[in-house]
Amino acid sequence: MTSESVFHSGYVTLIGRPNVGKSTLLNAILKQKVAAVSPRPQTTRKRQLGILTDDSAQIIFIDTPGIHKPHHKLGEFMNESATDTLLDADLILWVVDASEAPHEEDFLIANRLNAIRADLPVILALNKVDTLNAEQIAERREKFTALYPNARPIEISALTGAGQSSLMDLLISSLPAGPKYFPEDTVTDLYERDIAADLIREAALVHLRDEIPHAMAVRIDEYLERGETGAKISATLFVERDSQKGIVIGKGGSMLKEIGSTARKEIERMSGRKVFLDLRVKTSLNWRNDPHALRLFGFEI
Ligand code: GDP
Ligand code: MG
Repeated sequence: MTSESVFHSGYVTLIGRPNVGKSTLLNAILKQKVAAVSPRPQTTRKRQLGILTDDSAQIIFIDTPGIHKPHHKLGEFMNESATDTLLDADLILWVVDASEAPHEEDFLIANRLNAIRADLPVILALNKVDTLNAEQIAERREKFTALYPNARPIEISALTGAGQSSLMDLLISSLPAGPKYFPEDTVTDLYERDIAADLIREAALVHLRDEIPHAMAVRIDEYLERGETGAKISATLFVERDSQKGIVIGKGGSMLKEIGSTARKEIERMSGRKVFLDLRVKTSLNWRNDPHALRLFGFEI
């Protein structure tokens, strides 16, 4: 048996500070929109798998919520889950924005990698090289590799696709020999109802002032198929205070109606069918600091 006929598989944890292009890269690699690309940080709270299977390998990408300073239990959860995914990984894909010099957070990430799993192979993807000339690329490459000398650097553009096939070859050859962990047609472990919950939160982000959506959780109460082409979804939006509840509902229910209408259109686009969406709002005092409530909303703490 030649080495090329060995099947490779494993978990690749994607890390990097916000806005460096992690989601764009994951979507390009998986050739469909799995990760929510958003101008706002923290839209993706839970870790998400993106799975690529071909004849020679199965790569399971773990897209993590960003590492940031925690202000409450939910923040802690996001940091812990980012750390957990490092423990699970076979390989780290660290994405940086090479169009800018290293940020403080890049130093933090390098320190964290050293502290938690210095044994793991790290591929350092210098992204956005489409914005640089050769001289600038060489300079950034030197600055970023200095942060973590064991990392294997590679230049890419998630936007234009430059460097992506070399990156894939490098990923596959860096993974251990292993089995298919998931059926080959599985692309993500996020269920439609989880995506729907995210889309409802996103619609709330669009319509409400900043502080409220961060104090909001969405629970899908019912997701009923209606024949082949329709679905009925009931969901509850949890806020932390009665004053917030009033704002989310709006005058005569007008705000909730707008959120519902935006969310319904997005869910219809995602699922490719007609959706009847029923939203309600409840106050759940201080849910972000309540382990029971966090568990109820699907955060595995
Ligand atoms: P994430 O927060 O790391 O997941 O970053 P996103 O994937 O959401 O991307 C953040 C922004 O960077 C978006 O506006 C992307 O279009 C842009 N972007 C991502 N990759 C590239 C790239 O290779 N070149 C350029 N010029 N822009 C990119
Ligand atoms: Mg992202």
